[in-house]
Amino acid sequence: MSVLVVGTTALDSIKTPHRENPRLLGGSASHAGVAASFFAPTTLVGIVGSDFPENYIDLYKRHGLDLDCLERGDGPTFHWSGEYEVNMNNRHTLETELGVIENFQPKLTQSAKESKYVLLANCAPALQHDVLKQVDNPSFVIADTMDLWLNIAREDLLELLKDVDCLVLNDSEAHLFTEEDSPVVAAKALHAAGPRYVIVKKGEHGAILSTPNGYFIAPAYPLENLVDPTGAGDSFVGGLVGYLASHEGADIEARLRKGIIYGAVTASFCCEDFGLNRTTTATREQIDGRLKELQSMTSY
Ligand code: AMP
Repeated sequence: MSVLVVGTTALDSIKTPHRENPRLLGGSASHAGVAASFFAPTTLVGIVGSDFPENYIDLYKRHGLDLDCLERGDGPTFHWSGEYEVNMNNRHTLETELGVIENFQPKLTQSAKESKYVLLANCAPALQHDVLKQVDNPSFVIADTMDLWLNIAREDLLELLKDVDCLVLNDSEAHLFTEEDSPVVAAKALHAAGPRYVIVKKGEHGAILSTPNGYFIAPAYPLENLVDPTGAGDSFVGGLVGYLASHEGADIEARLRKGIIYGAVTASFCCEDFGLNRTTTATREQIDGRLKELQSMTSY
């Protein structure tokens, strides 16, 4: 089965305590789409501006992404700049310039409308909902979000959540959304808003999946060489949805568990270099290798 991913296709300017890197390929859909492409055919829905370098389009193509729903607008590409503190966990957004995505009205092709696995990667909830409404009969819908949208588009997000199977967000966003300190209590409040499955990510400390039947506690892959965590959350959810699309049939909770581990492993590659530099040189064999390592590190 194929995956449909909508989100930002961006230029990112990233500052870590060690280096500064302007206008790299980034965006939630870029990271998530490339991650999903390791597992399943993936269609990208988004818009780039007139300043978006052609070699980044070539990179999407090298990963086999279907670009029939990727538009080029007349104006600047979505640009995000962020800075990490010395601990590399705390991140501050310096600037978010929406550019051409502000007035983007996506039109899905017929084959995109027939997608069964839909990933609403981080972008304005109204845009996420617009795309979802164009999909005929999705089997499983995952949505990701972040603090900006919780702050400026909460009502749109609440509307969207009624139509979503699984919500993914990090622990600080779960707190911001629900005002609950405990991720599991926050997850309960989020279930009440619609999603049957809620995944709360906790960075290097892994993630918790909350379902009507209980919890699954997932580790993160322990990394020695953390260079830039930007896009790790998107790579996580991209790997997850890609795995789900490639393993139809079995019990959804079992698939979600294994998909989360695949997501964690895919995200680990993203963190080893800036932007998509490392993810785009990873191979499926390397991903499977780390999955095995993680299995042996967590079995007892
Ligand atoms: P992550 O590190 O997984 O949270 O994802 C970071 C990526 O999300 C960067 O590549 C940004 O271009 C993109 N991004 C940052 N802010 C936003 C936003 N408000 N909406 C959508 N994408 C964003």
